[in-house]
Amino acid sequence: MPTKRYFDFKSYLINRFGEKVYKVTIDAGFSCPNRDGTKGFGGCIYCNSQGSKHRKEGKLVTPLKQQIEEGKSFYKKKMNAKKFIAYFQTYTNTYADTETLKKIYSVPLDDDEIVGISIGTRPDCIDQEKLQLIEGLLKYKEEVWIEYGLQTIHDQTNIFINRGHSLKEFEDAVNLTINRGIKICIHIIVGLPYESRKMIMETANFVAQLPIHGVKIHSLLLLKGTLMEQIYNKNPFPFMTMEEYVDTVCDILEILPKHFIIQRLTGDGYRDIFIAPDWCRNKLQVINNIDKELQKRNSFQGKRLSYLKVGTDK
Ligand code: SF4
Repeated sequence: MPTKRYFDFKSYLINRFGEKVYKVTIDAGFSCPNRDGTKGFGGCIYCNSQGSKHRKEGKLVTPLKQQIEEGKSFYKKKMNAKKFIAYFQTYTNTYADTETLKKIYSVPLDDDEIVGISIGTRPDCIDQEKLQLIEGLLKYKEEVWIEYGLQTIHDQTNIFINRGHSLKEFEDAVNLTINRGIKICIHIIVGLPYESRKMIMETANFVAQLPIHGVKIHSLLLLKGTLMEQIYNKNPFPFMTMEEYVDTVCDILEILPKHFIIQRLTGDGYRDIFIAPDWCRNKLQVINNIDKELQKRNSFQGKRLSYLKVGTDK
């Protein structure tokens, strides 16, 4: 039974697999078309250029099988874990030809402890052929997710953050992905520079009406080695306070359909390169405060589902 006032991923997986399932993150050595000049240079302004701990000077040094074994072993020791999802996380995990993708995605297929696969990518980096390949993974694994970064629906913000794809490309990607058995998770960022509460809620309202299965809500993080660090140092912009973030996330949860699985509610995991905002260091506190705020409001995911107009600009 879910213990949260929203449909959290942990509860979904326990219900689906009869026990906790842990995501093992994989860096398969991909680049990103928004970094190498195909779509843009330098990447999204908040994206750190180092990749994961599995790279040295940009080159992948840990074989994929080893990454998976190390990830599993970490959760086995810490949590007595038995089931896992292989999460192709770093950069754009569909950015290669289909033959190369096939070799990469096949690495976890013979591992019975891996019950699912999740692939993070950009919406402008997918096509029929790649989706057919990803759909084919369902013959081997019960859950196959694709995670598309949307971040915001607002053009002016997309230009500012150097996102490099349009809303139309995002909509095309979702339309191309539906009805294949692949589950779709959308990433949005709350607190992007110069976005008002009204703009954030417009993005949330758009997402609420998509034929998708899950959402990741990220807080905006300022990280070392990003374009945003340079912009911020020259011309600092305000970050949300924790109270504003918690309040906004609760507003978003209230308008998301009850069947949307909430995979994430804040940013995480960048201790060594983290700069700001300070409250983001304590993920548990943010999650607890979201729980408390929903309780205080006597509210839950989907409570204001009929909410079709945007909220007031607080
Ligand atoms: S699309 Fe993803 S990987 Fe590429 S620059 Fe933006 S955040 Fe980084």
